Amino acid sequence: MNNVDPAEINKFDSIAHRWWDLNGEFKALHDINPLRLDIIDREHSIDGARIADVGCGGGILAEAMAKMGGDVTGLDMAGDALEVARLHALDQEVDLVYIQDTVENFAEQNPAQFDLVTCMEMLEHVPEPASVVNALSQLVRPGGTVIMSTLNRNLKSYLGAIVAAEHLLKLIPKGTHQHSRFIKPSELARWARAADLELTNLCGLEYNPITKIYRHSDNTDINYFAVFKKAAA
Ligand code: SAH
Repeated sequence: MNNVDPAEINKFDSIAHRWWDLNGEFKALHDINPLRLDIIDREHSIDGARIADVGCGGGILAEAMAKMGGDVTGLDMAGDALEVARLHALDQEVDLVYIQDTVENFAEQNPAQFDLVTCMEMLEHVPEPASVVNALSQLVRPGGTVIMSTLNRNLKSYLGAIVAAEHLLKLIPKGTHQHSRFIKPSELARWARAADLELTNLCGLEYNPITKIYRHSDNTDINYFAVFKKAAA
């Protein structure tokens, strides 16, 4: 099985050179990065952890975690994005590894090898997200932590994440997301449970169009983070 949508990969590869432009197509990911690092580090100390960042793209999150002392492996299927990620890490003199592989295949080769597995803003670009969730669970060691973020599926997320974010406010490029691929927290929790992961925290991220500031929130209607623990052996 090849759980990859080539159109999605091409979309990210075609703007690969833009990953580190703080005001470019990936501005939103740069803007939310401090918030995500905060959530991750609170759930599982980044410093010294063996971390797999799945769907790492140009390395916005992966590199930041490596700078904080994580032993990070970034995984993506977009080769040009990974090339940009490698060059940027070299330039920053940060030590981390980037691998082009499917998470399913990589997990088969590296079971239980990571203390912490992150998968941010990737599941909504994949044909079979449940298969990715299963692979994330395979990668994490017993007692380890898996943190995913994605977009909820409802009318509010259609208006907020597509109509507002792509068309009105232009926070992200048009065509970034397909609403039908958004994932309800209940669906994510069900796939995770089937893969032996227990949901321990669910939190949201909100954007204020007036102040242009993102902040943590209890509201999971649009962007949300889900934290899971793998049962100890
Ligand atoms: N996680 C990063 C990038 C999110 S953009 C961040 O939040 O900063 C989504 C990324 O998922 C892109 O880099 C894209 O290439 C990757 N992706 C999409 N489908 C994938 C798949 N099937 N396997 C691996 N990576 C995938």
